[in-house]
This record gives sequence, C-alpha cells and structure tokens, in this order.
Amino acid sequence: MIKIEENVSLSAYSTMGLGGPAKFFTKAESEEEMREALAFAKAHNVPFLVIGKGSNCLFHDKGYKGLVILNKIDFFHDLGEGVFHVGGGTSFSLLGVKTARLHYAGLEFASGIPATVGGAVYMNAGASGKETKDTLESVDYMDPDGNVRRYRRDELSFSYRKSMFQKMKGVILSATFSLTPNLEARSKQIAIVQHRTKTQPYGEKSCGCAFRNPEGNFAGALIEKCGLKGARVGGAEVSHLHANFLINKSDAKADDIRSLIELIKKTVKEKESIDLEVEVCFISSGEEDA
Ligand SMILES: Cc1cc2nc3c(=O)[nH]c(=O)nc-3n(C[C@H](O)[C@H](O)[C@H](O)COP(=O)(O)OP(=O)(O)OC[C@H]3O[C@@H](n4cnc5c(N)ncnc54)[C@H](O)[C@@H]3O)c2cc1C
Repeated sequence: MIKIEENVSLSAYSTMGLGGPAKFFTKAESEEEMREALAFAKAHNVPFLVIGKGSNCLFHDKGYKGLVILNKIDFFHDLGEGVFHVGGGTSFSLLGVKTARLHYAGLEFASGIPATVGGAVYMNAGASGKETKDTLESVDYMDPDGNVRRYRRDELSFSYRKSMFQKMKGVILSATFSLTPNLEARSKQIAIVQHRTKTQPYGEKSCGCAFRNPEGNFAGALIEKCGLKGARVGGAEVSHLHANFLINKSDAKADDIRSLIELIKKTVKEKESIDLEVEVCFISSGEEDA
C-alpha cells in the first residue's frame, strides 16, 4: 500500500540537488504499488512523473504540481545463460558491477552511471562506445491506466540518448538483458570506473553531461574551446574538470542552470557555428498539464 506525502522537496531526489516541492510524492516498490500510484494521480486529476535516481532531472524551482512517483521496484533475477531480468528501480551501476563479477560482458559501461534501470532504458544511457539498447531483450511497461505489456527488442526503437519511451506516458517496470560470457568483463568494468572518476567531477552535484555530443564532435571539447570552463551564473558553474558537466556549486537555482545552458548554447553557436542539443531533462512544474 502506498503512502502519499505532500509538499516534499525534490532537491533530495536529484543528483543536481535542486528543485522546489512536489505537491504529492510517493514511492512504488512493486507493480501493484505503481498501479495504485497511477490511479491516485488519475483520481485527483493531477499529472504524474516517474523518477529513478534523478540523475538526469532538472526539476523546476516551483517544484511539481502533480504526483512524483519514486520507482523503487528493485529486483535482480538471473535467468541463466547470461539473461537477467531486473526491476526498473534497480541500480544500473550495480547491475554493471554484478554482471561483470559473474563474468558477463555487455553492461560494464553501466558501472558508475548513477541511474536506475528504468532511467537508463528511457534515456538509452551509454558510455565507452556502448548503449543500454545493445543488450536489451525486452521491457515490461505499464500504461497510465495500469495495463502492463511486454515490448520485445524488435518492437523498440532507440537512437543516441533517445528511446521511444520519451514520447510515451507510462512506466518502465522492468527490463531483460542478454549478455555474453567473458572472463575479462570484471577487469574492463573496473577500468571504466577508474577512468570515470579521473575524468569526471564525481563528488560534485550534477546531472552528468548537459549536452548531447554533436555528430563527429564532443560537446565538452567545444565548450572548453570557447573558454567557458569555470563560467558561472549564480550558483551554477561549468566544471573545471569536464566542461560538459554543469555543477550546482553553491545553492544554485534551476534557473541558474537554465541560464548557464543558454549562455553556453549562444557562445558555442557564435564561435563554432554549432547548435548544441540539451541532454538533461527539463522537468516542467506540471502547471500547464494540470
Ligand atoms: C555523475 C553522473 C554521471 C553520468 N554519466 C552518464 C553516462 O556516462 N552516460 C549517460 O548516458 N548518462 C550519464 N549520466 C546521466 C544519467 O545518469 C542518465 O541519463 C540516466 O539514464 C538517468 O537515470 P535515472 O534513473 O536517474 O533517471 P531520472 O533522472 O530519474 O529520470 C530521467 C528521465 O527518465 C524518466 N524515467 C525515469 N525512470 C523511468 C521509468 N521507470 N519509467 C518511465 N520513465 C522513467 C523520468 O521521468 C525522466 O524524464 C550521468 C549523471 C551523473 C550525475
């Protein structure tokens, strides 16, 4: 049975550490609880937003005028022969570590990405030349009315940091991955984490890369070339370590991050004639959906 809370600050549920209050907030630990949460939103005629670790969510300073559902559907089923069925609220990073320890390759890149499986599928998260879609077999999905359907891999479409779920309005309940036996998987996974912690500002509050890499280029390199490392708006700063990471340096507002994003886009367009596309999810306050 779910517990509905009111006026819960979203800053604790975003790796960026900012955002105003959610009008309603709940956690769903099972398919039944997720259905119950969706029914609550419907009954109260408010929009809903499902979140994982909030590692790609830029919440609004006004918060969210609907129901925020924290996905805690967390399980790990080893189905044998490299096939794993895992909950949408399961840690994607731990999944990468666990499967590598079992000597399976394909998700080593996930370790160090502070996501849930649901968020990784939704974003088609990727690193080190690999993407979530590469080893995905199927996704169990709940529509806003609580109906569940399994999508097979050949029914799903993905591209760079995009999935068809971004155009849909339901919940990724779980995913099944099919991995390949490989005795080198664990050492590769460890090397990936070591590289990350050296090249990315891990201890800082951020949403990872703020911009998608343009074709044949790197957003971070372009931002650095434009002299924007360390640029600040209010409490928001371009990381000195990796220029595609925007940091909540000191009590930044979501508006500070948005203004910094606009400054970067404008500068890169003027100096390099390239339109940067934002990767981070701007979460609206929900007022317009209510
Ligand atoms: C330090 C750091 C490093 C990062 N490194 C990488 C990286 O290497 N590669 C990369 O691709 N990303 C990276 N990211 C970004 C982020 O981790 C990914 O985008 C990730 O996929 C987001 O997952 P999440 O569970 O936190 O989703 P959230 O941020 O909670 O949500 C993101 C979006 O997904 C939707 N969503 C989440 N769960 C569900 C669900 N179950 N059903 C339906 N919709 C859902 C939300 O509504 C929201 O629109 C990094 C972020 C940080 C902070």
